[in-house]
Amino acid sequence: MTIAFLGLGNMGGPMAANLAGSGETVHGYDPAPAAHAAGVARFDSAGAAVANADVVVTMLPSGKHVLDCYQEILPSVRPGTLFVDCSTIDVADARKAAELVQDAGHRALDAPVSGGVVGAEAGTLTFMVGGDPEAFADAETYLAVLGARAIHCGASGAGQAAKICNNMILGVSMIAVSEAFALGEELGLTHQALFDVASTASGQCWALTTNCPVPGPVPASPANRGYSGGFASGLMLKDLRLAESAARDNDVATLLGTRAAELYAAFVERDGPGRDFSAIITAVRDGLLVKESSV
Ligand code: NAD
Repeated sequence: MTIAFLGLGNMGGPMAANLAGSGETVHGYDPAPAAHAAGVARFDSAGAAVANADVVVTMLPSGKHVLDCYQEILPSVRPGTLFVDCSTIDVADARKAAELVQDAGHRALDAPVSGGVVGAEAGTLTFMVGGDPEAFADAETYLAVLGARAIHCGASGAGQAAKICNNMILGVSMIAVSEAFALGEELGLTHQALFDVASTASGQCWALTTNCPVPGPVPASPANRGYSGGFASGLMLKDLRLAESAARDNDVATLLGTRAAELYAAFVERDGPGRDFSAIITAVRDGLLVKESSV
């Protein structure tokens, strides 16, 4: 079996390297000269990389990249090729991409991930997968090399839907936890006291117990290292905007999701996209959204 891997960036590079390390033949392509994946044969074009592949994996920045890439490579792939798109993209784009592939006689899965660069390197990602159950069964061998869990969520687009719904919960809950710490600070509560109560009571959530936005209570959280590493605020903003767009397309009122996107947008504009998304607590303390709303 030969796997073509398109997009060898922060996520795709280590994922492709893990596939090659497991003994698969991996043909890689990325237009960025600096992109790198150990053990992967680099090709000069996407068409050349996919020509002899049984499976095409993509890990690209956006839905437009995926749709353009699929249009470009479809004439070059073998009949019955399995396409697995691991990028985080709009649900509507994921459905369009699957349609393009299936209309040309191939099979398609959307399989976005959570776990970040650390999970990509360690092979511990979680895949949320949409598409035909038989195609999912065929992809499981590869997904097992790349991640710790793969959940089949339904038809085409369901993987992307699960990813953006999950991340909308995460963005909103991180802001809620940050607001609680900011209020607790003013009320004279120590971070540890609030953590000890909320982490064992009804305020318990991942944003508090794993990615705690204040230093101290959870030593491994990015707050303990100046919010470096972790899940970048810019990517959280991207996912919240994808959720907003899906909510708009489907006439669902996601008021807190929309507000969370506004706060992350203001924060990223002020501080840049690079720090872990829990650094939003600094914007909460500064009343950034209040200032934004009043102009
Ligand atoms: P990245 O910018 O590091 O990598 C994307 C790569 O795609 C780049 O190297 C770019 O040159 C390449 N590319 C663009 N067009 C291409 C084409 N036509 N053919 C081949 N390669 C092409 O981004 P990343 O951090 O690796 O993220 C990739 C995807 O994974 C995004 O959709 C992102 O939202 C998602 N994601 C990222 C993280 C994370 O922590 N970085 C976590 C979960 C999901």
